[in-house]
Amino acid sequence: MAEKRTTGEWQALDRAHHMHPFTDSKTLAARGTRVITRAEGVYVYDNEGNKILDGMAGLWCVAVGYGRRELVDAATRQLLDLPYYNSFFQTSTPTQIELAQKLSELTPPGLKHFFFANSGSEANDTIIRLARLYWSLMGKPNKRTFIGRTWGYHGSTVAASSLGGMPAMHTQDGKNLPEFAHISHPHWYLRGGDLSREEFGIQAARELETKILELGPENVAAFIGEPVQGAGGVIDPPMTYWPEIQRICRKYDVLLVADEVICGFGRLGHWFGSEMYDIKPDFMPMAKGLSSGYLPIAASAIHERIFEVINDKAGMVHHGYTYSGHPAACAVALANIELIKKEEIIERVRHDTAPYFRKAMEQVTNGHPIVGELRGVGLLAGFQLVKDKAKRTVFAPEQEVGIRCREFATQNNLIMRPLGQSTVVLSPPLVISHSEIDELADKVKRSLDATA
Ligand code: PLP
Repeated sequence: MAEKRTTGEWQALDRAHHMHPFTDSKTLAARGTRVITRAEGVYVYDNEGNKILDGMAGLWCVAVGYGRRELVDAATRQLLDLPYYNSFFQTSTPTQIELAQKLSELTPPGLKHFFFANSGSEANDTIIRLARLYWSLMGKPNKRTFIGRTWGYHGSTVAASSLGGMPAMHTQDGKNLPEFAHISHPHWYLRGGDLSREEFGIQAARELETKILELGPENVAAFIGEPVQGAGGVIDPPMTYWPEIQRICRKYDVLLVADEVICGFGRLGHWFGSEMYDIKPDFMPMAKGLSSGYLPIAASAIHERIFEVINDKAGMVHHGYTYSGHPAACAVALANIELIKKEEIIERVRHDTAPYFRKAMEQVTNGHPIVGELRGVGLLAGFQLVKDKAKRTVFAPEQEVGIRCREFATQNNLIMRPLGQSTVVLSPPLVISHSEIDELADKVKRSLDATA
């Protein structure tokens, strides 16, 4: 248990020793970190007792909400029975086996095999290695390049950040790794010009064909995309986009990876975004909602036709993580899935919570002076902040409009995030109630109004 300290003491210690992810440490040092000490339902509490509405479910993770006994009990039981045993060298633990089996029932057809990791980044690294291995075993060792998208996010490891298309991540540490390429993000509002959403969806997808031809199909291993781009600013593609991407992948023998790390486990009102957009992936990384973030766990789903080749021809696959399939994390994921099913959380999101959320957000944003577009599906929302609505011009990054909006949200005890190009986003726990959505909408309105 952490000791009892004053806010100033926490902040001083934090400043002295803790380097934060995705943070400007000088700015943080000047203002001091906020110390979150507990959580319940859709709220987190800081060490001073402030009750904060978590409009982001942590980092898009906490599907079933905070404080769920069922998940804690599952972890406790497993930690007492078998806290850890690694899965290398021909052993398994029961929760690994059961989770892999359960995931094979929930994921799209053909995804029958699951490789466990601890984070979305690792799940994507796994897929990069397995896809290249597959092509090599198929006698096409040059098929190594992955194509991702600008403003795509697939993680922070060296390989996963190259897979992604976050401009700042690429510029800050110099060059992208070789054998990673990108096409543009399907952002109709900013890039669609005079095209209808549907026309733009086809046009955006055809960039993939151009890129494959430029690189040579014989060199391209896979295309990766999030069904709805999350960290890029909640970019939900036109419904014409994914079918065209899929057609192009099949035509050129390019594997299709649907990154479900955010979209999976009910965020869009379906078990997976692939279901909603009718994507038939060859690989599917998942994390976050898999355990509602209670313990770190991720999985890479592998299509049986790929697994069979690796199984037949590879011999030992030289890949794995010490905590692959951690027994307690698997137990929590199983309990999480059971709870999602028992409480019919996904059906509730699809038929009730998401439509209510959408209406509430529309009421906030309709006619709002700085919101050009409200995007989103299910319980994801992106507010496109614009300087000029007629010209669809976004605020320049140095104007820090999203950051200001986040600051106003913080003052209103709401967590929302600035992401992508001049966008602020929401991704609340899936169990959020109507009255909590009303409170959320009120706080979002106050934050946007103060920003305008
Ligand atoms: N893929 C997507 C779509 C994500 O949003 C993220 C994280 O936000 C990742 C992968 C990386 O996951 P992690 O941070 O667990 O490595």
